[in-house]
Amino acid sequence: MYYLYLMMRVVFSLLIISTGLSLWAQSKWTGNTSPDYYRLIDELKRMDKESPLVSLYNMGPSDVPGLPIYVCVINGAEDSTATFLKARKGTTLLFNNAIHPGEPDGINACLIYTENYMRLDSINPNDPVVAFIPAYNVGGMLTRSATSRANQNGPELYGFRGNAQNLDLNRDFTKMDSENARTFAKIFHALNPDVFVDNHVSNGADYQYTLTYISSLRERMAPSLRKLIYGSMLPQLTQALKKSKWDLFPYVETVKETPDSGIYQFNDLPRYAMGYASLFNVISFTVETHMLKPFPNRVKATHDFLNELVKWTVVHAAQIELAREKAHEWEGSQRYFRFNYSRTSAADSIQFKGFTAVRDTNDITGLSHLTYDRNLPYQKSIPFYRTYVPLDSVEIPQFYIVRGQEHRIIEQLKANNILFEVLSQEKTLDVNAQFVRSFDAISKPYEGHYLHPTKAIEKVSMKMNFRPGDVLIPTNQNGSLFLHAVLQPMCEDSYFTWNYFDSYLQEKEYFSNYVFVEKLRSILQANPELRQAYEAKKAADKEFATSEWQQLYFIYQNSAYFEPSYMLLPVYELK
Ligand SMILES: [Zn+2]
Repeated sequence: MYYLYLMMRVVFSLLIISTGLSLWAQSKWTGNTSPDYYRLIDELKRMDKESPLVSLYNMGPSDVPGLPIYVCVINGAEDSTATFLKARKGTTLLFNNAIHPGEPDGINACLIYTENYMRLDSINPNDPVVAFIPAYNVGGMLTRSATSRANQNGPELYGFRGNAQNLDLNRDFTKMDSENARTFAKIFHALNPDVFVDNHVSNGADYQYTLTYISSLRERMAPSLRKLIYGSMLPQLTQALKKSKWDLFPYVETVKETPDSGIYQFNDLPRYAMGYASLFNVISFTVETHMLKPFPNRVKATHDFLNELVKWTVVHAAQIELAREKAHEWEGSQRYFRFNYSRTSAADSIQFKGFTAVRDTNDITGLSHLTYDRNLPYQKSIPFYRTYVPLDSVEIPQFYIVRGQEHRIIEQLKANNILFEVLSQEKTLDVNAQFVRSFDAISKPYEGHYLHPTKAIEKVSMKMNFRPGDVLIPTNQNGSLFLHAVLQPMCEDSYFTWNYFDSYLQEKEYFSNYVFVEKLRSILQANPELRQAYEAKKAADKEFATSEWQQLYFIYQNSAYFEPSYMLLPVYELK
């Protein structure tokens, strides 16, 4: 019985692709143009009016005042409440377009997908909900040109990578500097997608493929998802796409200048859309079409990838739901949170269809340069470095406590569906306090921040007094991977790394030598241990022995006069 039902679903889904193909030529989005924000939203509003299967929702503000971020939902329910409930409870795919508006392939692909869906004679209401964000980076959509993607083959006009604040939104998913990121979190958690795709166009080397993809690091995934994605989903998608003449290939990140030297797997950190989504055990991909292929071909490739993904999801909805459920269980069973994944030197081998790299001399510069000869295509095995190991881990506490003054963080946790309790009365608790012992900062801002790439944190167990308004966050909840990624200060995309806690890294009070020197005797008399440490240091360290400042500061720092909040982070662990 179940088998029969499955077969019917397969037949139905095949209908989508065959109908889609015959209608390809009729669409106005298959040429070398892509709509601007206003035209795009007008088109979708029209489709929403015309078809009960298509609904366009204003989901909240973008980086441009008055121009919202929308989500378009296909195969929803009768109203918005029922639609979002259906999405959260059932199987749902979410596609994100124009996070980089210079790479608008996904916009056209989703318009064509929607047109084709509207033309279907019958639909199965039990099929997955397909939702897409038509244009995520609204500010970037408004800055149109034919030039900002210097190496790209179409469309005629397109938007710009930076948003109105000049942020690359595909680095903003944990730090959330943009209004866009806050609206994204709302869309993401309102839909609870099972599958997520972020649509892009590549830069870099030349090769034969039009369609490349990034999938999350295998090593970071829950075993159930790793097995589903790498064991069946990707091999089957690759097979299915071959039938539409697409070679689906991993994103080409070259180890050296050309792909012959080998390629490596992209590390999808939480700052990126797909890295963020995978923290919530969502099956996540980035599509990267190749910049030098004509826009219409890239749109077709993106469309076909999304369409095959929907078809796969239709057939495997039950397995996807089960794998995600198991992933949440796995997440809850972990004792350690692993991070700082680093690529190893272990190489797999992969068959690669490239163009031969040759050197040529440029007339203008008179210098030798690299180029690829398209008359010399090749297919050969190249090394594929895709094995990562976590270099660090932390033991997972039962709770985090965030101080109530950290409004921004508390708001962001709320936006990410993290459950917590706000303390209503004072409480003294045995916790791990976290002291920053050393840190550095990059010398030029990156995405608006002087990041802290290296740091040392000491966790000190002590009794601390907590106040009403401080928040107690259990780690045993869905979303805990996100929680650790942002609250564990050592993590690559933590709030500490992104400068949220810089105000805690500065001393607020000091002393005057001539006054403090008079207090030394009484301080040391009252504290024999400190006296011993001081004498030992004076005996062992010549510079210290001759520096009044060093000696005074040593005693000051270890006395009751020193501020206990120096370098103390407002995030605690309760074991
Ligand atoms: Zn991009």
